[in-house]
Amino acid sequence: MRLLLVEDDVMVASGIKLGLSDAGYTVDWVGSAERAAQALASDSFDLAIVDLGLPGIDGLELTRRLRVAGMEMPVLILTARDALHDRVQGLDLGADDYMIKPFELPELLARLRALLRRSQAATSAVLSFGPLEMNTAQRRATLGGQTMELGPREWTVLEYLLMQVPKPAAKDKLLQVLTGWDKEITPNAIEVYVSRLRAKLEPAGVSLRAIRGFGYRLELAEQAGHVLPQ
Ligand code: CA
Repeated sequence: MRLLLVEDDVMVASGIKLGLSDAGYTVDWVGSAERAAQALASDSFDLAIVDLGLPGIDGLELTRRLRVAGMEMPVLILTARDALHDRVQGLDLGADDYMIKPFELPELLARLRALLRRSQAATSAVLSFGPLEMNTAQRRATLGGQTMELGPREWTVLEYLLMQVPKPAAKDKLLQVLTGWDKEITPNAIEVYVSRLRAKLEPAGVSLRAIRGFGYRLELAEQAGHVLPQ
């Protein structure tokens, strides 16, 4: 999941960015609405976190413009102002939720999961494929009932693959969900995560097939024509 964070306070922004990265999100951070507009024009994001008090164009106006432009990703407003008026106005202008600063990270994470769930139009927080199950609310993955140990990047790759099933996931899209502007992730790095995931999935009969020139697809061993030894 790739998030855009629009926040001019460096301390607040780096705290949020660190916390969300640890939780497995890819976070791109900009300090103004103008930079946010550029980012939104060139990249795609699953959600935007927008501070209301920004230099130049403020967060309310940014939210309004983004909706006018037809962008539908969830917007979570951050505000230090406790004026009810701003929050109500933010929601009227198209924000989906708001949080008053200062806030606790677990609450932010819970709100993000709820917003992302709604926007993915998933009826439940559990993604599953054969023996593989990912509970995105609890951030717990199981394979044949056994808990899987996944690093944050492995989680991100597997979650994206699982959301695409039965379609393959494009490699460049995988790169996009993994990478922020400040991280150098190469297509080769994707292969590293893919091979780590393969090592974990294949014993349970889930394979990660490379689609030449495109990307990867999750398949069950029976689909690939193999019969696994018991
Ligand atoms: Ca601010």
